Amino acid sequence: MAGYDVIVVGAGHAGCEAALAAARMGGRVLLLTINLDTVALMSCNPAIGGLAKGQLVREVDALGGEMGRAIDATGIQFRRLNTSKGPSVRSNRAQADKQEYRLYMKEAVENRPGLEVRQALVEKLWIESGQLRGVITQIDEKIEGRAVILTTGTFLRGLVHVGLTNYPAGRAGEPPSNNLSASLKDLGFEVGRLKTGTTPRLDGKTIDYEKCTVQKGDEPPMPFSFDTRSIDRPQIDCHVTRTNDKTHDAIRSGLDRSPLFSGVIEGIGPRYCPSIEDKVVKFPDRKSHQVFLEPEGRCTREVYPNGIPTSLPIDIQEKLVHSIPGLESARIMRPGYAIEYDYVDPIQLGPSLETRAVSGLFHAGQINGTSGYEEAAAQGLVAGVNAMLKVRGEAPLIIDRSQGYTGVLIDDLVTKGTSEPYRMFTSRAEYRLLLREDNADLRLREIAYQLGLVNEEQYERYLIRKEKIEREIGRLRTQAVGTGAEILSILKEAGSGGMGRPQTLARVLCRPELDYSFIREHWPSNEEIPPDVAEEVEIMAKYDGYIERERRSVEKFRKMERLKIPEEIDYGSVPDLKMEVREKLERVRPLSLGQAMRVPGVTPAAVAVLQVHIKAMSERKAKD
Ligand code: FAD
Repeated sequence: MAGYDVIVVGAGHAGCEAALAAARMGGRVLLLTINLDTVALMSCNPAIGGLAKGQLVREVDALGGEMGRAIDATGIQFRRLNTSKGPSVRSNRAQADKQEYRLYMKEAVENRPGLEVRQALVEKLWIESGQLRGVITQIDEKIEGRAVILTTGTFLRGLVHVGLTNYPAGRAGEPPSNNLSASLKDLGFEVGRLKTGTTPRLDGKTIDYEKCTVQKGDEPPMPFSFDTRSIDRPQIDCHVTRTNDKTHDAIRSGLDRSPLFSGVIEGIGPRYCPSIEDKVVKFPDRKSHQVFLEPEGRCTREVYPNGIPTSLPIDIQEKLVHSIPGLESARIMRPGYAIEYDYVDPIQLGPSLETRAVSGLFHAGQINGTSGYEEAAAQGLVAGVNAMLKVRGEAPLIIDRSQGYTGVLIDDLVTKGTSEPYRMFTSRAEYRLLLREDNADLRLREIAYQLGLVNEEQYERYLIRKEKIEREIGRLRTQAVGTGAEILSILKEAGSGGMGRPQTLARVLCRPELDYSFIREHWPSNEEIPPDVAEEVEIMAKYDGYIERERRSVEKFRKMERLKIPEEIDYGSVPDLKMEVREKLERVRPLSLGQAMRVPGVTPAAVAVLQVHIKAMSERKAKD
């Protein structure tokens, strides 16, 4: 057979998941990347997960993706965040051994049947008579593919800045990809410019850890992947220190040579991950900012000082680093820098991540204006699946906002577009009590199985877990506790009041002062309940009322999503719609009235007009 089913351009976090997903579905897949030694390299922080990002990793994992297994195998410190808060905002985060992570992923893509991996710089899309045929590389090789996924990260016309000096690069030490974005512009895509930045890396040998506060990992560490039984590798300590007046003075002394403040950088930076100079200028009253000293791996002394991304000139970087307790003699091994790069406004994509302008072309990851490995991985996986479904002529996979953060992410991107780097937050999700880390498999594994993304063994494991949860929840909802003296004394001992009449264990568990371990101690199940099942059961029982309320809201949401807008709709012919609303709808071309409601600037009144028009359209169609 000539050519590939799917060609993935870029083997970063989006590209690896895209290629693996398409290959798992039986596709003949080619993964092309500029440098095979930087597959899945972490450009910035050597860490996976964190608030809302942990949820994305679990979803990628539930959908059969690699990221969760990769970090479980290569993590050096695991911490569960927000454990004292509600279940919707608990997230796992792990420091990775950066080199081990990269090698793990390289091995995963190389060993995947159906997937070929090659080093090549793609310069152009190969389009003939308006049809996508494949890609053309730097050495003028034409490679045929039925679908193409672009996952080029920060490489499109990448420009690195340190002080007032800048040079073209995809990220430090790697060449940019300059011609591909011109090829996209020629095809009519709107291409914008964004910016991000990273911290200097320090030589751990020159850090005085005695002056810092130690931060230990969780014991036992909680795995990311539903396939990992336990993480047995010893964990490494991180440390915390802080900036001070001296640091902030050093930063201010270099602002006249800052590419950010002197107007050299035009691209918009991440609002939620600002550079240290940004923080000092924007929050002059803050006397100090935390700096986390995170090792980059087991076999290197390089340390990532999380909290001081900067593009100030190198002499100022040295001054600011040396002003921080513990870092007085720290040597900079790699300077911090900012990078400007081209992105393609994701409003030009449909919810399958296929571009509207070129059939068979998909975009995923930072090229869509997002920031973060996890956001990239989730999009990559969906693009990989949808590219294969497109090749097979099947309907795309669309994960909606009530099914996952992945759905929230993609829906936000394609409905609202983005003009600044987009990162995920729990606050972006309407149904976050349903979209928890712990239940990602219950939400998505069935879909993964139907698509062939997980094997029988993985599916079987999921079914066993699901049935255990259901049995135990069932027991708690049916087994009643009496009002005898012995029971009242057990409750009293746990600081809980009595009860006037018998109650189910589920009701008893709803008392804030009691937890599931108390229930198990006094009314044990007759089967073994592993910790992950126990957590799920506890959340489901304790938050039952809230979960139910969110489910009802989801029903309303789904009702609007089910009201499809015909593909052939001509917004110009919808009467009573303001011109600007027409333009907005035309730009997004929403699939449903639900999605139309989320297009910024589209009012409820406009949606009502649209609804009437769609009804009339379908009545006309029925008559014809
Ligand atoms: P990448 O991981 O960048 O992978 C892109 C891949 O595409 C690379 O393998 C590259 O070789 C390949 N490629 C590019 N062009 C071509 C071509 N024409 N032909 C073939 N292959 C090509 N994220 C955060 O969440 N927080 C941060 O603070 C943060 N800071 C960052 C700072 C810097 C300096 C950089 C560079 C990135 C930062 N990121 C940050 C972003 C994070 O690295 C990305 O969001 C993430 O890696 C995106 O994944 P991706 O797969 O889209 O792209």
